[in-house]
Amino acid sequence: MKKLYAISLILLLCSSTFLKAQQAVLKPVDEKITPGMTEVWDPEVKIIQPGEKPGDAPTDAIVLFNGNDVSAEWTDNDGKPSKWVVENGALLSVKGAGVIKSKRKFTNFQLHIEWKTPSEVSGESQGRGNSGVFLQEQYEIQVLDSYNNRTYRNGQAGSLYKQYAPLVNVSRKPGEWQSYDIIYTAPTFNSDTVTYYTPPKVTVLHNGVLVQNNVSLRGPTVYIGVPEYFVKKHGPGSVVLQDHGNPVAYRNIWIREL
Ligand code: MG
Repeated sequence: MKKLYAISLILLLCSSTFLKAQQAVLKPVDEKITPGMTEVWDPEVKIIQPGEKPGDAPTDAIVLFNGNDVSAEWTDNDGKPSKWVVENGALLSVKGAGVIKSKRKFTNFQLHIEWKTPSEVSGESQGRGNSGVFLQEQYEIQVLDSYNNRTYRNGQAGSLYKQYAPLVNVSRKPGEWQSYDIIYTAPTFNSDTVTYYTPPKVTVLHNGVLVQNNVSLRGPTVYIGVPEYFVKKHGPGSVVLQDHGNPVAYRNIWIREL
């Protein structure tokens, strides 16, 4: 009994000492701290030049497509010249040509891309203006004509396909240019190589409006099945644009590695 009493007394003393120490740390203003002591001056933040207008590439961006040559930065899925065509300064998907992928591979990045679904509306649901932007060849941000075109909510424009619906539908009319600004953080993997240590994270602005707010992906994009079952360790990957059989156009594609 005596022993128990002694232990309780020690614990009480310890906790009161801890509380006092904590209060000292949390003291809002210490007279000895000056404003200058919390200012960080060096190294100076890197200076870059912004684009002329919103959506234009800043000076530190890698331009992946600027309206001219497609072969400089892109290939088909097998590394051969792509059959996608350049028309009026836009990169146009060609039915049956398959995906187009960037030659360069990326890890963490900010990506700007503009896209347009056909002004002549045909098809419905997933069959209207379907394409997609795949991050690291794994994770699809859906491109779709979602203007007056109902489909499943986690498969419409701005969705992380079959994982997250967009927060709002901010689609422009078919035939009008739209933009995605994407911020992507690549996953890290556990030693088992089939589970994430930290999952991939994605933020998307559609036409300047936030539609995905730093969401954590469950696994690679799959049409059928549970994403978790398809996780497999991967490194840097290409940006891939999907050929879903609809003539979707792209322009002004640039990326900044983070
Ligand atoms: Mg798609």
